[in-house]
Amino acid sequence: MIIGFYILMFVLGAAFGSFLCCQARRLRLHEKGKKSLGRFSVCMHCKKPLKWYENIPLFSWLIQRGKCTKCKTKIGWAEFLSELGVAAAFLVFSTSFDPFSATALMWGAFISTLALILVLCFLAIYDGLYGELPSLCLTFAIICAIVVLCLKSWGAFSPLDTLYSALILGGLYLVLYLVSSGKWVGNGDWLLGLAIGIALSSPWLALIVLFLSNVLACVIMFPAIKKSKNHKIYFGPFLVIAYIIAVSFSGLLESMVL
Ligand SMILES: [Zn+2]
Repeated sequence: MIIGFYILMFVLGAAFGSFLCCQARRLRLHEKGKKSLGRFSVCMHCKKPLKWYENIPLFSWLIQRGKCTKCKTKIGWAEFLSELGVAAAFLVFSTSFDPFSATALMWGAFISTLALILVLCFLAIYDGLYGELPSLCLTFAIICAIVVLCLKSWGAFSPLDTLYSALILGGLYLVLYLVSSGKWVGNGDWLLGLAIGIALSSPWLALIVLFLSNVLACVIMFPAIKKSKNHKIYFGPFLVIAYIIAVSFSGLLESMVL
């Protein structure tokens, strides 16, 4: 039964990943004042409407080898990575949850965390594609984080833990942003850190996220930084990946440090 639940979460995540990547591209066109793509999924290049079988997350991209069936233009890795990334995030996070013995409050915390993961994944996809974090979505991430905090710490709320956690992730990136006048980290990174800090509400987990996101950013971004003159690191996707790992294995990680 539990395997069925994991498969459902993976499939749901892949479908949401496809939707989020599409919405990121739509939002960008909207922000740049360009013509919208219309209601249905189309090829970004030749504007051919996609058939249902060209819209199956992961499978369609693999079968078409990342190319449009009409104009043969490369669709790019963003779609495939978004689908795989959100599917993996949903699957990994669901392993920390037992749907058969959960109370209504646990279900609330689980669903609100999934909603937060979706908003964070949208921000990571947008940041990965365009190097920016849309401010409206950041506000939405903070609201989602507060809901997660309320449901997770129902009856056991620790204001100091939340404060330290938010300061470690939000405060540090704010200092880096102010000191470097936005050269090292972007304007939105500290707000993203703040949202993650509030949702975690644990100084230890916040430190783990900080460490993990910086290690991931250095390892993955270092070759790119060496090649180009642009020294700005897009922390968004790495913060989100580190949060998903921390929240999925929070029990194990906390037992290791406490
Ligand atoms: Zn095309």
